[in-house]
Amino acid sequence: MPELNTLTAPEAATASPPRFADFGLAQPILQALAEQGYQHPTPIQAQAIPVVLQGRDVMGAAQTGTGKTAGFSLPIIQQLLPNANTSASPARHPVRALILTPTRELADQVADNVKAYSRHTPLRSAVVFGGIDMAPQTAALRAGVEILIATPGRLLDHVQQKTLNLSQTEIFVMDEADRMLDMGFLPDLQRIINLLPKQRQNLMFSATFSPEIKKLAASFLKNPQLIEVARSNATAERVTQIIYKVEEDAKRDAVVHLLKQREIRQVIVFSNTKIGASRLARELERAGVKASAIHGDKTQAERMAALEAFKAGGIDVLVATDVAARGLDIAELPCVINYDLPYNVEDYVHRIGRTGRAGASGDALSLYCDKDARLLADIEKLIKQKLVPVELEDFHPRSARGERTERHDRGDRQSDRYGDHSERRTERAPRSNSAPMPRKEKVDPWFLKPYEPAAPAVPTEPKPVDPRNAKAPAKRAALLGGRSKN
Ligand code: AMP
Repeated sequence: MPELNTLTAPEAATASPPRFADFGLAQPILQALAEQGYQHPTPIQAQAIPVVLQGRDVMGAAQTGTGKTAGFSLPIIQQLLPNANTSASPARHPVRALILTPTRELADQVADNVKAYSRHTPLRSAVVFGGIDMAPQTAALRAGVEILIATPGRLLDHVQQKTLNLSQTEIFVMDEADRMLDMGFLPDLQRIINLLPKQRQNLMFSATFSPEIKKLAASFLKNPQLIEVARSNATAERVTQIIYKVEEDAKRDAVVHLLKQREIRQVIVFSNTKIGASRLARELERAGVKASAIHGDKTQAERMAALEAFKAGGIDVLVATDVAARGLDIAELPCVINYDLPYNVEDYVHRIGRTGRAGASGDALSLYCDKDARLLADIEKLIKQKLVPVELEDFHPRSARGERTERHDRGDRQSDRYGDHSERRTERAPRSNSAPMPRKEKVDPWFLKPYEPAAPAVPTEPKPVDPRNAKAPAKRAALLGGRSKN
């Protein structure tokens, strides 16, 4: 492991909030940023941009949602600009920056960002990933691109087909390095690194730093600057967590009640099961709430349509399973609701991390039934915080009034017997013995896009809050990832 120079937040902080113009970025980049509506750099950007501009190697501890993509893309564009040209000749547009990501979803997002930030420059960018026809990618590569975003496997396919030459790469970025290793890309990464010129700048980003990650970093980073921003524990400190005690068959009414009482718009409601997600979305629709379910039984087209509608405000509530939620490029939600407490305790941290991002505050509301005692205890242990279930104010569920819910109306015996947690098609196995064991399900790779570190990072200080008084003002999410493609 090379010696790391740590740049801590206080050192990096300046008296007044920094502006993008302070970094000496070229006018075309500043113009693109202004068009994106970004005024101030996020903490990771404020730290990374000057260091990358110096040409130094960087090891960045940052997860998706922190603004890290611009943190490396902007200084890359700036560094490539002096030799940018408008020549039509492919030879004048060699690959000069290579950005590797573990998944095609992330590759696509990064490529969108790079395109947006470089739109007023002559620099060309392209993205290549597997699962789709190689021909259009080949055509783009043949025409010449300076900034290439790629997943490892497809990149090597292009190298093998000799449609790609990496010998002029000046800057190499490895994004979500921990996920790369999780996905078994190490041999591919090593092959790719061997194709790059020895003299180059390396930037590596990872949400977690396992011994394997450190070993990988040591193998290719030279005297890297370590850049760290608040992890999900700091994020979670801004999240108001409230646990509402409700009867199992009153949970759907409780969601409707919360949406109305707290005037919630744009919320992800987490269900532990796909069937549960679909059923809840249906019932919410029936209650007049614009809702849609997103899970592994939906086609990619359906998932994309639901996501776009959600971002555009056509749908207020996305009911999602944990695995499906990983595929969502949505940041800064004002609220998430745990319809079910997650079986997998780390998922609780991941779920609440979807709100309270990038300096914003957020609410994480959870529905709790008596049978969830063990799950709640596991969560409290992990986050080192006591979460006391409270009654839901002014809540008069249909079940308590003797009315029948959809489940009872349909006489769905299996659901009655096992409850929502029992759907035999759950993506995750419960750790606690408080719920029956679901069948392990094949995970659609579309959902493998990361959004939180695998390792739990949790708040240590309890946040004082009287949940019953915590009625939130109506908030509409700034969906940072919601821009359409250029
Ligand atoms: P990332 O962590 O790179 O995936 O970025 C998370 C989201 O923050 C993306 O949707 C970006 O478009 C958005 N974003 C990046 N930088 C800024 C900024 N300086 N101000 C506001 N939003 C930003």
